[in-house]
Amino acid sequence: MNEKKVPFTGEQLESIIAQYPTPFHIYDAKGIVENIRRFIKAFSWAKDFKEYFAVKATPNPYIMRLLQKEGVGADCSSLAELVLCEKVGITGSDIIFSSNDTPYEEYAKALEMGAIINLDDITHIAYIEKHNGRLPERLCFRYNPGSLKEGGNTIIGLPEEAKYGMTQDQIIEAVMYCKDHGVSHFGLHTMVVSNELDINGLIGTAELMFDLALLVKEKTGVEVEFIDFGGGIGVAYKPEQTPVDFEALSAGIKRAYEEKIEGNGHSPISLAFECGRMVTGPYGYLVATAIHRKDIYKHYIGLDACMANLMRPALYGSYHHITVMGKEQAPADHVYDVTGSLCENNDKFAIDRQLPKIDIGDRIVIHDAGAHGHAMGFNYNGKLRSAELLLHEDGRVELIRRAETLDDLFATLDFSKL
Ligand SMILES: *Cc1c(COP(=O)(O)O)cnc(C)c1O
Repeated sequence: MNEKKVPFTGEQLESIIAQYPTPFHIYDAKGIVENIRRFIKAFSWAKDFKEYFAVKATPNPYIMRLLQKEGVGADCSSLAELVLCEKVGITGSDIIFSSNDTPYEEYAKALEMGAIINLDDITHIAYIEKHNGRLPERLCFRYNPGSLKEGGNTIIGLPEEAKYGMTQDQIIEAVMYCKDHGVSHFGLHTMVVSNELDINGLIGTAELMFDLALLVKEKTGVEVEFIDFGGGIGVAYKPEQTPVDFEALSAGIKRAYEEKIEGNGHSPISLAFECGRMVTGPYGYLVATAIHRKDIYKHYIGLDACMANLMRPALYGSYHHITVMGKEQAPADHVYDVTGSLCENNDKFAIDRQLPKIDIGDRIVIHDAGAHGHAMGFNYNGKLRSAELLLHEDGRVELIRRAETLDDLFATLDFSKL
């Protein structure tokens, strides 16, 4: 169970809205910081434990700076994400470049910044050599374990259907080749779960990777120095779900590490995650206003926000909890579809949701919008991306990205040539 609360009072929210009209995204700095501290603390037993924040979740430099102060690095997979790191001052091995299908200019930028390069495919070794002349001293390889049906592994999903990573044989071949071609520091990476709340799936990932490290040592004589478990720690979007217990997750990984790595006399391995969703997801809120109410075959509440501000419900049918401000204690005795304004019938934040009676002008807070919320925004139907605000612990609100204007939308058009 997790109680879906908002980090501001109704009065506080009204004074924020007086300055920044709805819709907007607002992030709770205290929530983000306390959560990431708990996560890092849970892994204090692990050598050089590092969390690389998956920038794609919330690519805002102010959020990245907040995390940087907590010792968090960045997981990037595009040129823009690398440039964001540069602007924030995140460089070198504080960045892991976990890209796929990567144009060389992006590898070049990552190499220039000294980022750890995580190769998605064995052919990318030759690709880097061809363009760069040589390989970096440190390389990481992304593993795709393929079918996990055997072996009693609890990992869900179908890695053999995923475009990412290399096979086991390719990992061995890649290490063999690279150790003779200038690479002296090796890492292994995988990401086989997503939005996972069951710690057994996450611990299973760790077991899989420790086994792979042992195999690499056996086959190549190379001891990998770091393992990155990727992201995938889930968010308890529904009130009846339970957030991941970091302590229990850590204890499970520790047990596997002691058994497999220490137990087999492998040298110590640094451990890392590159979580995005759980870092910011629960601490971001999309705030909107109810502007229309429509009663036909169903009852609709129309918001001033739309799926351009948060597309997870429309795209995946995801549940995002809704609070009607000031009516937190009112009985949820109405059933609504809560909609946006796109000319797309799937532009709905909630379908058949039990909510208190909603009046025009009510402030609607959509929860768990901090990751893949604003970040997935788009301009279809000429919708403008909203502002992003950061709520500090002392109640101060900082504008960390202004709302788009029509001039922004039209910036790539030259009307003078019409
Ligand atoms: C998306 C992604 C992550 C982050 O995943 P979350 O589910 O947000 O934790 C980490 N690594 C890679 C390579 C990714 O693509």
